[in-house]
Amino acid sequence: MLDTHLHLRRNPDDCFIHMQGCGVSNAILLTRAPEEDQAKAEMQRRPAHFQRSVAADPAQPGAIATMRTAIQQGAVSVGELKYHLALDSPEMRRVYDLCADMQVPVMMHIQSFPHFAGEMPYNTGYPQFDKILRAYPKTTFIGHGVLFWAHISAEVPTDRGYPAGPIKPGGLTDKWLSEFPNLYADTSANSGNNALSRDSNFSPAFVQRHRAKLIFGSDCSCTDGNGGGVSQNNNPEASRLAGRCVARATLTLLKSICSPVVFRQITWTNGSKLFRVSESS
Ligand SMILES: [Zn+2]
Ligand SMILES: [Zn+2]
Repeated sequence: MLDTHLHLRRNPDDCFIHMQGCGVSNAILLTRAPEEDQAKAEMQRRPAHFQRSVAADPAQPGAIATMRTAIQQGAVSVGELKYHLALDSPEMRRVYDLCADMQVPVMMHIQSFPHFAGEMPYNTGYPQFDKILRAYPKTTFIGHGVLFWAHISAEVPTDRGYPAGPIKPGGLTDKWLSEFPNLYADTSANSGNNALSRDSNFSPAFVQRHRAKLIFGSDCSCTDGNGGGVSQNNNPEASRLAGRCVARATLTLLKSICSPVVFRQITWTNGSKLFRVSESS
């Protein structure tokens, strides 16, 4: 299985320990540009298990050149991008051009409702994102995060990040996954887990419909792949996953709502194609 959303950790073996705990063989190490050497070292130690991404704040001078160089040197994706920019901003448009040019996907954290008092929104303007999806057909977009997944429903409350309960059909994310071949969805974090577990009458058909567009990721911060430490960075709104490993929780959930064939697609095939991971790499 491939975890497409594993943040690089401080100690060399911590990512691998998490993977072994939750039964994942491969991972994309989400790597900020200044942490590149650390990611490279990790890959060298375990070349069969890791690939790396690159992320830099597109509003900072030199960000595009930095990311281009990292991709030339082996980074397989851009992300996650979690900055206070509009999805339709000149800065982000330069990233979309870069990703089309270099043929790597871009993963974005889309969030409006704050997890903590004073937290500012990331990648704003999602309700108009179809304009970008249409304008950049050669760019592969991977949506992730609170607001991206809240839009699995046509009803999106503004007073919370993780809506619970029945999903109203016709949500933007559902619609756009059907309409745009260049949009994929990352199932990671409480956001993905919540969206796929909140309405058992809805999710099996959703997963079946988008089986070629969903990619498994954890975004888990637990220490051992078994729920030790803190799994959701103490985000109070995500306390439903406290004490649990997000990777394990979402893998169990996926098993319960899809066939073994689709499970394999979501946890390996789709992600390995997008991130160019081969079984023996
Ligand atoms: Zn994120
Ligand atoms: Zn975990």
